[in-house]
Amino acid sequence: MRRSRFFIAGIALIAACLTACGVATAACTKDVVVPTNPTAIRFVNPAGVTGLTTRTLYNDGSNTGHIHLSYPTFSGAPALNGALAREALRQAREFRVIADAPRSPADDAAANHGNPRVRRKAAGARPEINMEWRISAYSPQVIGVRLRTREFVKGAWHNSQRTLWYDRHARKATTSLGLISDKATFQRIVHDKLREQGAMPTLTDKMLGSIAFNADGGLITEFDDCEVIDCSRGRVAISIPREQVHPLLSGLGRLAQAAALAQRVPTPTPTPAATATQPQAAEPEASQPARRVALTFDDGPGPQTGRVLDELRAANAHATFFPVGLNATAQPRLLQRMVREGHAIGNHSWAHRDLSKLSSSRVMDSLGHAQDALIAATGVEPELVRPPYGEIDDEVREAAKRLGATLVGSSVRSEDWKESDPEVIAARVVDSVRPGSIVLLHDIHRPTVDALPAILRTLTARGYELVTVPELLGADGLRPGELVTAGPPDQDTEDGDV
Ligand code: ZN
Repeated sequence: MRRSRFFIAGIALIAACLTACGVATAACTKDVVVPTNPTAIRFVNPAGVTGLTTRTLYNDGSNTGHIHLSYPTFSGAPALNGALAREALRQAREFRVIADAPRSPADDAAANHGNPRVRRKAAGARPEINMEWRISAYSPQVIGVRLRTREFVKGAWHNSQRTLWYDRHARKATTSLGLISDKATFQRIVHDKLREQGAMPTLTDKMLGSIAFNADGGLITEFDDCEVIDCSRGRVAISIPREQVHPLLSGLGRLAQAAALAQRVPTPTPTPAATATQPQAAEPEASQPARRVALTFDDGPGPQTGRVLDELRAANAHATFFPVGLNATAQPRLLQRMVREGHAIGNHSWAHRDLSKLSSSRVMDSLGHAQDALIAATGVEPELVRPPYGEIDDEVREAAKRLGATLVGSSVRSEDWKESDPEVIAARVVDSVRPGSIVLLHDIHRPTVDALPAILRTLTARGYELVTVPELLGADGLRPGELVTAGPPDQDTEDGDV
């Protein structure tokens, strides 16, 4: 089985000395340290940040595109949390305007750039915006959050990033330029560095919206796709050495630089594998209850997930969670609780992008990266994959097969995310459930969580046992790379499911 890896940017690589080095004049050493890329940011491991949770801005049903904007929130940092939420909202609003605009021949020409295979896959696909976050720095004085956005509109992808900074003593959030005191000199240096790369931009404040520091204290400025240079160049970033940039920094900038310098290499989250007791696929039993249903919760963990677990425990019910890998890194303890309390966990990709628009290697990266995050948090290897938006193609099937995971759809789509009334959600679910149903819900959607007590009460009263997906399917029902949308209906029931 393939294992993808965490690539921690900024860590020097060790390259083995090859016999071919004997031809060089320099003495051959056993190991060669490859210099760290000066534009690589060493991000903070979220598992070590207390009081961290995630929020997601998602499609409310009023737009035809896929919207999934994830951002972190920190306890005791309301100004930063507010700034992150406003940034997500701004991006979602701008996306809606662009995605709803008619497509022109110029758009088609722009869409013809890039990887031809990806272009073929993306042809005619729905518009999409996806935002993921990383913590650029975290210390008692400062927090830096980098928001990376990928937009698919009019047939082409566009990547951009913003980094917001927070002064924990002053309790103020700022854009990246808040790190700079001598802006004129800073702009001149950035301009000269870009000229060395062949770019001649007129720099604006927006272009200087993503600033962080490397492990040596050097400043990194990243630019959006096509912003300062030809689109074909991919990621464009410049670095300014520590000594050169230090006089240009504000007080907050110096604290941010110190935080980057002090940051240790992230250590993996301790895994509670020895105590994990994720239920395995049920062996056939003579006395299985007649009616079984599997509730599934996607896109968490979020602020409501703890309440979902409380309600399930109170009802003696088990469920299956499909967390987004990125969110899982922020709240490993919630995932550990899921496993401890008998729930199953499946893979819902790393950052909730529509996998059917990505190349096969990126599909594998997304699912593999999420798989690693879930294993790191719980010590248990997920055996289920639910692709975001239910979008499945051959590459997704192949990636799931390589992970040894069954693709899980649903037979009851509550469309809870479009609904604000918990009573409507509860009624829709309980009216649609049949023995063997797999019910799609979202633990990031507050009205769904409000509806959960009524759903559990009604289904239990109707004689349903609430089980995990592996329990519902049984060992024979798990087939890596194949899509399953429901479990076997009760044999005594005439109106079988789906
Ligand atoms: Zn989802």
